[in-house]
Amino acid sequence: MLEKFRPSLFVDRASSLQADRMKSLGIRGLILDIDNTIAQSGRSRPEPWLQDWLAEIRQAGIQTSIVSNSGAKRSARFGELLGMPAFARAGKPSVRRLLEAAACMGTPPENTAVIGDQIFTDIWGANRAGMKSIRVKPVRPWREPVQVMFKRLLEWPLCLYFRSRGKTGGKGEDLY
Ligand SMILES: [Mg+2]
Repeated sequence: MLEKFRPSLFVDRASSLQADRMKSLGIRGLILDIDNTIAQSGRSRPEPWLQDWLAEIRQAGIQTSIVSNSGAKRSARFGELLGMPAFARAGKPSVRRLLEAAACMGTPPENTAVIGDQIFTDIWGANRAGMKSIRVKPVRPWREPVQVMFKRLLEWPLCLYFRSRGKTGGKGEDLY
């Protein structure tokens, strides 16, 4: 019952995942969440470490896109800033925008990964879409809307549970 919420992989932050690791996992397209994955919640700029890492993975031929539950304007701004297609108001865990993004990148779901901070939106959505799901630690978890903080109360024990039962013993980057 809980397996649908289980991330394929836990990483500290998006840039912990190197291009060669992604390739070895068969990932050719990467869908990025915005809030608390590549930027602080509500901020209009990505985290400073993002650009170098993006340049590296693109150099390696990995396609990228954004799928966010936030509004059209905010998502489009990040898309423009980072030079990638952006899909807004995704309503994750709905799979609709995730599949659109994969189609746009030209990568089938099994070669596509979603990277995000929330179990009940990003991870569940990715798993439903047949994509790989990569869970990052929230960039800044204590600056979030109250409804997100409520979900954290539910996802923290789940993450602890999954990590305690990971094949590699839970050391920050586990492949299940
Ligand atoms: Mg998020």
